[in-house]
Amino acid sequence: MGKVYLVGAGPGDPGLMTLKGKGLLERANVVIYDALVSPQVLDMISPQAEKIDAGKRMGRHSLLQEETTQLLMEKAQEHEIVVRLKGGDPFIFGRGGEEMAELIAGGISVEVVPGITAGIAAAAYAGIPLTHRLYSSSVTFVTGHEAMGKYRPAVNWYAIAQSSETIVIYMGIHNLPYILEQLMRVGMSSQTPIALVRWGTRPEQEELIGELGTIIQQMAKTGFSAPAIAVIGSVVKMHSVLSVPQGVLKLCS
Ligand code: SAH
Repeated sequence: MGKVYLVGAGPGDPGLMTLKGKGLLERANVVIYDALVSPQVLDMISPQAEKIDAGKRMGRHSLLQEETTQLLMEKAQEHEIVVRLKGGDPFIFGRGGEEMAELIAGGISVEVVPGITAGIAAAAYAGIPLTHRLYSSSVTFVTGHEAMGKYRPAVNWYAIAQSSETIVIYMGIHNLPYILEQLMRVGMSSQTPIALVRWGTRPEQEELIGELGTIIQQMAKTGFSAPAIAVIGSVVKMHSVLSVPQGVLKLCS
């Protein structure tokens, strides 16, 4: 019996992959990966390894999780090192917790290797520190996809607006008009700064900076689309000071 390693691939820049994760990709017999893993990270996989695209293989969304877990169990019975490669960090909105629990219940040895989550890395590459002594002493990571019934209980936007000075929203682009309406309804100013960062840490990274009240119009004008994170709060002001070219020195190609 082998072991399944639940590995975070980071947000895209291959230089942000952990050494532990890279070592596992080089030794893996099988790698099952998700859609948001960057091509440069996939290039780290041993040429001998079997590569399986979990996104493409399974058409229907509802079966995806069960089928993936089943596949991981089968592969772990045949091979020594099976890597389940997920974008960012496996335990941040990546269903890593569910997958790991299912594998443990199935009697499979499993270990997690954290990755750099998009909320931290995309914001950093856009020159936005999520905390700052002058602007913010708290940060909340929240899903914007809860309306689809994926996460329970439903997000309490009132509590978040009250308690957190920086809000980082994952999977929130489609639902952004609704989310911003909720935040402004519970008292956030329409002038609160917001940044959207698309394909963060990749060569094609794009940013849209604005305010809660007007960002939706800006999005429509520019055709801004997913995958992107949204960062809300005064820390976004630091963008004008800290936005510098990142990854100019190519440590990993
Ligand atoms: N486990 C992942 C998140 C998976 S949810 C992590 O820790 O990063 C998928 C969402 O993550 C996307 O809808 C988007 O909001 C965000 N995301 C992932 N990669 C991104 C990137 N390179 N740039 C910006 N947002 C990204």
